[in-house]
Amino acid sequence: MQGVNTNKKPKQASDPFTFLKAGGKKFVNFAITNFCNAKCKYCSFHLERNKTYVKYEDACRAIDYLIDINTGVLALTGGEPLCDEQEAAQLCKKIKKLGLLVKVDTNGAFPDSLKKLIEHKLVDYVAMDIKAPLDKRYNTATGKQVDLENIKKSIEILMSSDTDYEFRTTCAPGIIDENAIHQIGKTIKGAKKWALQAHVPDNAYKKLYQQKLGPEYYHQLKNYFNISKQYVTNTLLRAKV
Ligand code: SF4
Repeated sequence: MQGVNTNKKPKQASDPFTFLKAGGKKFVNFAITNFCNAKCKYCSFHLERNKTYVKYEDACRAIDYLIDINTGVLALTGGEPLCDEQEAAQLCKKIKKLGLLVKVDTNGAFPDSLKKLIEHKLVDYVAMDIKAPLDKRYNTATGKQVDLENIKKSIEILMSSDTDYEFRTTCAPGIIDENAIHQIGKTIKGAKKWALQAHVPDNAYKKLYQQKLGPEYYHQLKNYFNISKQYVTNTLLRAKV
């Protein structure tokens, strides 16, 4: 997979976390749905449930309360918050109108929805998962068929936009290895930010991914981190190493 074409230089703008530090406000994750189009083997969100979205009116009440308790950034999560484009857009609009920053956590499967949020300036920060190299390894990670063209489109949209974003990769053993980091790195070369995240066995629903991780895993993680920096300067490691 070749790197995504973009002529734009990464913009070093403030992200929601910088905003928080400056303003002393709260950062709140807001799960607007329990549904996800994927079923990642290491996800904490693994139980089969009916597809449910928070009702818009209920969400608005919750947002009003969150403003009262000094919230500065709302991160829309799920499940996958962009499964329902209309709901996500409506909520982003409401949150922006109230003067808060909006972060969206997405798995990148809905590029059209993502594009509209960006074009209408309804989102300040996007965190998009890249779960594996964009080949047959991807569906091993997601546990369900995911259209890789959509993932690629979402990557292109973010890398070509002025919106702040990060790509995130959970380094699950058996899915991510050195080769995978190189391949993903080539795909997102020059991105604004790439976060490598430690696998959390307690979250996994598949037995294979529930095994405790030893020091060797964390050693490997540091190795992945060093590799990732060859492709994305602003790489960070989210792990207690
Ligand atoms: S895309 Fe995210 S929410 Fe959906 S199953 Fe994977 S890790 Fe869980």
